[in-house]
Amino acid sequence: MGFDTIVGQQLLKKTLQRSLQGGETGHAYLFSGPPGCGKRTMALLFAQALNCGAPDPPCQQCSSCRKSASGNHPDLYRLVPQGNSLKIEQLREIRESLHYLPVEGRHKICIIEDAELLTLPAANSLLKILEEPPSQLVFILLCSRPWALLPTVLSRCAPFMLKPLQPREVAALLERQGKVPPRQQELIIALSGGNPGLALAQAEQGLEDTYGEARSLLKAVEHGSAAGIFALAEKLSARTDLSALLDILLYIYRDRLVYTLAGCAGEALLESGALIESVAEADNMEKGLFLERICRALLQIQNEIRGNVNRRLAIEVLFMQMRGVI
Ligand SMILES: [Zn+2]
Repeated sequence: MGFDTIVGQQLLKKTLQRSLQGGETGHAYLFSGPPGCGKRTMALLFAQALNCGAPDPPCQQCSSCRKSASGNHPDLYRLVPQGNSLKIEQLREIRESLHYLPVEGRHKICIIEDAELLTLPAANSLLKILEEPPSQLVFILLCSRPWALLPTVLSRCAPFMLKPLQPREVAALLERQGKVPPRQQELIIALSGGNPGLALAQAEQGLEDTYGEARSLLKAVEHGSAAGIFALAEKLSARTDLSALLDILLYIYRDRLVYTLAGCAGEALLESGALIESVAEADNMEKGLFLERICRALLQIQNEIRGNVNRRLAIEVLFMQMRGVI
């Protein structure tokens, strides 16, 4: 129960637990990390713990914990962006009540999501509260880009960065979710980058179809006709999930590279799903350099498609590289 429901983040959990046990809570915490890293879950557990009376809070069973989880605790406030920003009006609405004593719990808690979206007037208003906070008030700011926060706000927060999960932690997370086939688990561990939110979304959607498609694509590019791959490039350039497909291609090429450099070849590799038969007889060093170039090209195109690039042209160039023509 409690903090154990979160996989990983041992140091952060221990630090929070220690401050709860010592009764030494601060007035402002900043949980940062990319979307999906678990900031919101951690903040909610911490908020529950601050007002839970159990010996090892949060118990998640008492009335206070349940009210916090359902969003009905009178001492827990949540600010989320309205449109593209957190506006001063939103802070004004709750500012006065934050100064009153808690209704039920020991603390008044205000979770501010996407804190980097605070407008300058809103950030200044928050700063004013932080300069002389009422003793029972605790802010928990959640942020993907802490460098975008006002430095004066940042300096008043205890900063905590959520770390990417280790592969074994992603595996533990997936096991908690029930049956995820081992092959799929391996793919998710490789593609989620240790992000629990992304790993769970991938487990939910399933990666088998995209993986199968990536393998077919690879065959078509390496062994199909030149005209065919230009048509493929055109089709792919319109896809909204192109990035997911490129991620899997990168995974396959990385597999090929690792096994090629390790001097392995052939059948053993097929277990990991990589199409390595074509590299089996090649000179390993030369092949390794070629695969490394493709890995770099895949990373580069991932960056390019986020910008204003001619996607079709970029994919055509990638396919030519994969084919070994350029
Ligand atoms: Zn409780």
